[in-house]
Amino acid sequence: MAPIFILILIVLVVVIFAFYKRPVKKAVLPTGYKKVLLEHVAFYRALDEEGKIRFEEKIKEFLGYIRITGVNTNVDDLDKLLVACSGIIPIFGFPEWRYYNLGEVLLYPDAFNEISFLSKDADRHVLGMVGDGAMQRTMILSKPALRSGFANASGTENTGIHEFVHLLDKEDGAVDGLPEALLKRQFTIPWLQLMAKNIVAIKAGQSDINIYGSRNEAEFFAVAAEYFFEAPERFNQKHPELYNLMTQIFNQSPAHQNADT
Ligand SMILES: [Zn+2]
Repeated sequence: MAPIFILILIVLVVVIFAFYKRPVKKAVLPTGYKKVLLEHVAFYRALDEEGKIRFEEKIKEFLGYIRITGVNTNVDDLDKLLVACSGIIPIFGFPEWRYYNLGEVLLYPDAFNEISFLSKDADRHVLGMVGDGAMQRTMILSKPALRSGFANASGTENTGIHEFVHLLDKEDGAVDGLPEALLKRQFTIPWLQLMAKNIVAIKAGQSDINIYGSRNEAEFFAVAAEYFFEAPERFNQKHPELYNLMTQIFNQSPAHQNADT
């Protein structure tokens, strides 16, 4: 009987290993990636050493399971890193998060509003969009918009982050500004009220949040998230209520990253 038990044990171990220790395929980062990240990604710069290492690991993982393809444009190491950063920044507070609803990011050489089949639900002067229907699991980004989002150190806009926040919002089935997969139930009503209040303020010209955020709740959430991640100190100072609730949504406080510089 003993060999059978041993066999069963081996099978069990293999099964458990297969399910719980399935190795995540990780990409190899390009040479000089650290310099690129330090130069272009303020969020990364603000992390302490431990945070930087964790961020790099998340990028390797992201690039291991998401394909980045250029359409009539080449995709270089910088583009790949910036797409990965756009995806990792919003979920950096959730170590186990993976984008199961995304397989590929297509980069276009410019805004793509001339491409009629893409333009129906396209976003922000058609700089990016999250696909539906036949384009399910596909995100489309304008390459210049992706780059400019990370180029302006003092800016509050970032198209890449914007589109990934829509994807997080979509996780519960609806892109409606209410990310039920992330937000604890007790914060639902306060968040809805806060969004409504701020949309009114934007429309009245009494807010420095981009006017595009007043279009609807989904756009408000994505636009406010860009500001939250791109200029966290300023956002915290000008919009403390929003900042606090968004630290609950994203499970991180980018204004307090313990930068060691
Ligand atoms: Zn949008």
